[in-house]
Amino acid sequence: MRLSQMLFVTLREDPAEAEIPSHKLLLRAGYIRRIASGVYAYMPLMWRVLQKVSQIVREEMNATGAQECLLPQIQPAELWQESGRWDTYTKAEGIMFSLTDRQDREMGLGPTHEEVITTIARETIRSYRQLPTHLYQIQTKFRDEIRPRFGLMRGREFIMKDGYSFHASEESLKETYAEMDRAYRNILTRCGLKFQAVEADSGAIGGSGSQEFMVLADAGEDAVMYTEDGQYAANLEKAVSLPPAAIASEFTTTEKRATPDTATIATLCDLLHCSPTQIVKNVLYQAVYDNGMTVLVLVSIRGDRDVNETKLTNELTRRATDYQATTLIALDVPDADAQAKWAAKPLPLGYIAPDLADDYIAASKTVAPKFLRLADNTVTELTNFVTGANETGYHTVGANWGETYTLPDTLDLDTAMVGDRALHDPNQTLQTARGIEAGHIFQLGTKYSAALGATFTDEDGKNKPLVMGCYGIGVSRLAQSAVEQSHDQNGIIWPVAIAPYHAVVVVPNINTEAQMTIGTQLYEALNAAGVETLLDDRKERAGVKFKDAELIGIPYRVVTGRSIESGKVEIVERLTGATQEVAIEEVAEFLKAKVMATV
Ligand code: ATP
Ligand code: MG
Repeated sequence: MRLSQMLFVTLREDPAEAEIPSHKLLLRAGYIRRIASGVYAYMPLMWRVLQKVSQIVREEMNATGAQECLLPQIQPAELWQESGRWDTYTKAEGIMFSLTDRQDREMGLGPTHEEVITTIARETIRSYRQLPTHLYQIQTKFRDEIRPRFGLMRGREFIMKDGYSFHASEESLKETYAEMDRAYRNILTRCGLKFQAVEADSGAIGGSGSQEFMVLADAGEDAVMYTEDGQYAANLEKAVSLPPAAIASEFTTTEKRATPDTATIATLCDLLHCSPTQIVKNVLYQAVYDNGMTVLVLVSIRGDRDVNETKLTNELTRRATDYQATTLIALDVPDADAQAKWAAKPLPLGYIAPDLADDYIAASKTVAPKFLRLADNTVTELTNFVTGANETGYHTVGANWGETYTLPDTLDLDTAMVGDRALHDPNQTLQTARGIEAGHIFQLGTKYSAALGATFTDEDGKNKPLVMGCYGIGVSRLAQSAVEQSHDQNGIIWPVAIAPYHAVVVVPNINTEAQMTIGTQLYEALNAAGVETLLDDRKERAGVKFKDAELIGIPYRVVTGRSIESGKVEIVERLTGATQEVAIEEVAEFLKAKVMATV
């Protein structure tokens, strides 16, 4: 392609709307244009990148025997009502765009395709002989994200590869799951990305496990916890650890103490000269279920630790049936306005004890009359601990479970912290890094097949629900994460495998006939050799062309400058900035070898 004939517009200034480097650079370099919040046009250079990523994904998926298909983006509400997700997705969470058609039928734009694929499986899979089978598609997804941001990272319209596998048994699912793990590692490696596979939260769906693939970058929205020995890596939402041992308490008798102005752990420790590990803090949450029920939750946890809200959400979701609900829709620390809706009297905030009386709750049809009391494992072993006295300005010291308070149901609700010891080897301590979730593989089990009645006849003649797995990789997010991981102050540095073009031939002065002739010849020779090459033949100053070439991040720049007098051109590598002169007739072979080595 000749730049003189392309719609090629770059910006000198950073666009105000962009916060992170990759978003700024994709806008500045003309790869994407914002059309609406979270909605972008992929300009021709971007589209080439996306097609390259898609092709790598396709090759790796096909290599596992999965088959490509294309499912409808517009989907009937009935399918989502059958799985029980319509109301949560369109109303409670509101992630799904929905509409009513001219026949008054409700439809939604696909945020994901479990319902559609399971319907197809229900109608086409009869026997174990047809299993396992795996279908995937590469397609635009729609999600009305609460906070669309960072360009393609969190769009409301974005490209995903999603695949769904069907099995007769859990063992068969595990085999495909392991194959997908390998395929995803291959995809990210081929795309030239530094990544970490991590244990992920499987949410309320349960299932036997899920794994995320994190592209490592400071701007990542996720925190990854890992150990140096490479034996453990998990999303912070899921991470487990051995917290430091508690320091023994010096309080020997149970007493109420005046502790004015000690609503925080730090001020309390100062006043009582105690360690935060001797304190039981009681954190109040407000949970709202899909049937409108509000439940007040009191979580007791050691003073030096924080509640992991993902773990808490999972526990509350498991308990939904206790409140005649099916799913949790919100979990917050209630602010003053929220408290006003259910508190019968002012709460002793900052001084709450594990036995805070239920009469603080003004129960109603939509507010559960009792606190749900839960405790993190970190508090079970504590003795003679310090905790609130249910009265502002007072704490109880020397308290004990079974004497002073009843120990609530205990479970792991702890947020792992840097420096904690690892469970697999206490000599290893947890480290942390930021990651961008590029892919997620999931052992679904029978959640959707059971809900939609997708069954098969097994070898023993019995009718059973299909065992399912699902596997997603964000094609457009992955492409931008490559930029996030690889750029400098001058612009993008594309990994060769997904760069829109491998090389750009820059003609410094198009009015110099020799420069133009050699430039054009090289441009043609390179393309003929399979090196995807641009020709910068614009009527611009050389400096502008060099700057643009760096900004758009093309791996190799070939300059037909003064050196052509000695039969050579200058070749500059974008990644290292290394410059070398190569004989004109050797350029095509030279670059072909370079490109082949990395693609
Ligand atoms: P997140 O936690 O980031 O919202 P998710 O868990 O909702 O992601 P999945 O439903 O597992 O994501 O989708 C599979 C992949 O699709 C993700 O790993 C990610 O790469 C991509 N993806 C999800 N949501 C978006 C989005 N709003 N914009 C761009 N890509 C996305
Ligand atoms: Mg999401």
